[in-house]
Amino acid sequence: MDQLGRVVIAGAGIGGLCAALALSKQGIQVLVCEQATTLSEVGAGLQISPNALKVLRHLGLEEELRPFAFVPQHAAIRDYRTGDYYLKSPLGAFAQERYGAPYWHLHRADLHRVLVDACLQAGVELVLNSTVLGYREHVAQQQVSIDLADGRELTAGLLIGADGIRSNIREHMLGPESPRFMGQVAWRGVIPVSDLTVDVKPDACVWAGPGRHFVSYYLRGGDYVNFVAVEERSDWQSESWREEGDVEALQRAFSGWHPEVSGLLKSAHSTFLWALNGREELPTWHKGRVVLLGDACHPMLPFMAQGAAMAIEDGYVLAKCLSRHSLKDALLQYEQSRKPRATKIQQMSKANAGLYHMHGGMLGRMKLTALQAAGRFVPTVIQAKLDAVYGYDVTKD
Ligand SMILES: Cc1cc2nc3c(=O)[nH]c(=O)nc-3n(C[C@H](O)[C@H](O)[C@H](O)COP(=O)(O)OP(=O)(O)OC[C@H]3O[C@@H](n4cnc5c(N)ncnc54)[C@H](O)[C@@H]3O)c2cc1C
Repeated sequence: MDQLGRVVIAGAGIGGLCAALALSKQGIQVLVCEQATTLSEVGAGLQISPNALKVLRHLGLEEELRPFAFVPQHAAIRDYRTGDYYLKSPLGAFAQERYGAPYWHLHRADLHRVLVDACLQAGVELVLNSTVLGYREHVAQQQVSIDLADGRELTAGLLIGADGIRSNIREHMLGPESPRFMGQVAWRGVIPVSDLTVDVKPDACVWAGPGRHFVSYYLRGGDYVNFVAVEERSDWQSESWREEGDVEALQRAFSGWHPEVSGLLKSAHSTFLWALNGREELPTWHKGRVVLLGDACHPMLPFMAQGAAMAIEDGYVLAKCLSRHSLKDALLQYEQSRKPRATKIQQMSKANAGLYHMHGGMLGRMKLTALQAAGRFVPTVIQAKLDAVYGYDVTKD
């Protein structure tokens, strides 16, 4: 590691905080700038798979998070009307044994709070109400100047853009380009189990139907059920990428679905609506003394439940590379090890839209039936696909 000096991170999301914690554990001074004025969080669940859990374990957070987790028993894909299983793949004890780490469901607010506390304890400086507008590099001084919206200027040896899908840092590095609406919206919400009138299985369940799908899973030890309801749309009128959703419109969109879905939605009192946006693969993730991670460089449709997991892996790998190599080599190594994996998972997530939404009518249904047959007769093929995602371990040397 050469003398890096202070690292400034734009964005205190899951990716920025993981990077901050991993860097400070390497003895690097870190300042995180977050545009939000408070760290309050819109309620939503996250599936955190074993590949991400291994990183959280290495950062010393597994036991802190355990009381907030729910352990699903299966990953399932079911038919929207009949409830028939197209896929039922074991998680629970099986995932723990196969991958050496559990598959958990966490509320994002719980994960975020645990990360913030760990960062502060590790000496990370976190400044709220602090929007990063852009930067200027000073090659001779081996520094980057960072411009904040309030007129202040910071200096750092490295700037990390962890500022999400609408990243200012990405735009500054690679030029303006808006994220592309992917033709899908997602309602998200959390329902207390005490409000439910239907039984929900303890699985990570995708309900597949024409042009839409529904995901349900438990959170917080089973006290809440999280749902994500995705619908294809030709356009998104709003300027915002998320806004308060209309519960009745959501219930209408999924009326006639299996009673486990429509019954669950009857207990929903509030919801947020997300426009699902994406980007093409970027030509590079770093330039000079500036580097990107998480949604800032590889936003993906949430249909593999891997966006936060990839941001967590990114943060850990970036810190590891910086602890072992000169800055130039570290950023090169980081990009070389992360870009192919994140791009592959972006593509897999996109492909799942076609599967979950039965694209192509009969053909779409046949694909799901083929998946069902593969699960029965060649389960190793399906397992190998999951192994490549969940069995990956960035904490190994
Ligand atoms: C419906 C849905 C379901 C999902 N489910 C899952 C799941 O089950 N599992 C999973 O792994 N992933 C899931 N994801 C994806 C996951 O939420 C994201 O990939 C992940 O949160 C990205 O983290 P990040 O830190 O890169 O970005 P973000 O979480 O977007 O964080 C960026 C941070 O930067 C701040 N910021 C932005 N601009 C600036 C600026 N200029 N200056 C300072 N601060 C700034 C923002 O306020 C924010 O705090 C889901 C996503 C959606 C939409």
